[in-house]
Amino acid sequence: MDTQPRIVALIVAGGAGRRAGGSVPKQYQMLAGKPMLSRSVARLLAHPAISQVRVIIHPDHSTLYAGAVCARIIPAVEDGKMGAPIFGGAERADSVRAGLAALAELNPDYVLVHDAARPFISAAVLDRIIAKLDHGTGVVPALPVVDTVRSYHDGAWQEVSREGLQRIQTPQAFPYAALVEAHTGHVTDEAAAWLAAGHALEYVEGEEQLRKMTTAADIAATNPRRIATGSGFDVHQLMPAGEKHKMRMGGIDIEHDHKLHGHSDADVVLHALTDALLGALGEGDIGSHFPPSDARWKGADSKIFIAEAKRLVDARGAFIQHVDITVICEAPKIGPHRDAMRSSIANLLGLPLNYVSVKATTTEQLGFTGRKEGIAAQAVATLSLPAEDA
Ligand code: MG
Repeated sequence: MDTQPRIVALIVAGGAGRRAGGSVPKQYQMLAGKPMLSRSVARLLAHPAISQVRVIIHPDHSTLYAGAVCARIIPAVEDGKMGAPIFGGAERADSVRAGLAALAELNPDYVLVHDAARPFISAAVLDRIIAKLDHGTGVVPALPVVDTVRSYHDGAWQEVSREGLQRIQTPQAFPYAALVEAHTGHVTDEAAAWLAAGHALEYVEGEEQLRKMTTAADIAATNPRRIATGSGFDVHQLMPAGEKHKMRMGGIDIEHDHKLHGHSDADVVLHALTDALLGALGEGDIGSHFPPSDARWKGADSKIFIAEAKRLVDARGAFIQHVDITVICEAPKIGPHRDAMRSSIANLLGLPLNYVSVKATTTEQLGFTGRKEGIAAQAVATLSLPAEDA
């Protein structure tokens, strides 16, 4: 193209989006920490060939739109590239026609119509579409059908040849004036109206990531995640107990002639593990959640510390992938208690047993652990979290 054509992107976001469940329509639901709609808006705004972005919304969704787009996107856009929202109609086709009508004064050369339910548009697919723009044709992204396709009617299966079958995605691009004229009736997408009017349609390679988000499972599966690792370390002093005493480690009682000294039940293993979990979440340490100065935690069962860490894990939508614990002491021998400790920790965290590892070592009689003055424990927790910044 010799001169820079004016290209406007229209995002269709007027639907109720109820099939995906949730308290708000799907286009306003959070997708890895950002409202779904804001993702399309941001990707289209970022493309240098697009001169304006407009969103077609449901008249009842002004507040949702303000939260998803006005508050997040518009302050960052100073060149007027983000236009005011347009109220849509009863059906998708009505909404698109309302959007096209709203562009009459601007009269762009081309319009890209995009579904808000396809939030992950890449610059590459936009480049491919824009490179093909031409006054005579429409351009759609498409992908071949890779699964076997059969049709089912009245109890009978029929083979359908995959050859030539294409899955049509959005954004779909057209010369503006010709699309305004072609867009009539109850069409499911702009390409249908365009083809029905007898125009030529070209396609460029689409992308799997452009697939439509329809159900709650679609939304959940698309949420990018990141792996975070936290480490924890703790020491408690050993005091002679005089006779057989039960010390608490990993949530189980172990008979020993010494006891662990501490403000709470001195469960050195659960304390290290709590810190590892908090570390992976970036949520401070056990002391910041349960200050030793607070009399409430005197003699406390350390399972409450783990329960609080687990509550924070759940609240963040995180999953514990693995925990690995090393107990450092000369005595008691950990080996005979290892399986019980693993089970106890797996139960506390609601994990399968093989997600929990308990190991033990000595320090060859060196240092405070070697002199049996104290027991140390270290823990590593690996978590999978929603990637808020993706
Ligand atoms: Mg401690």
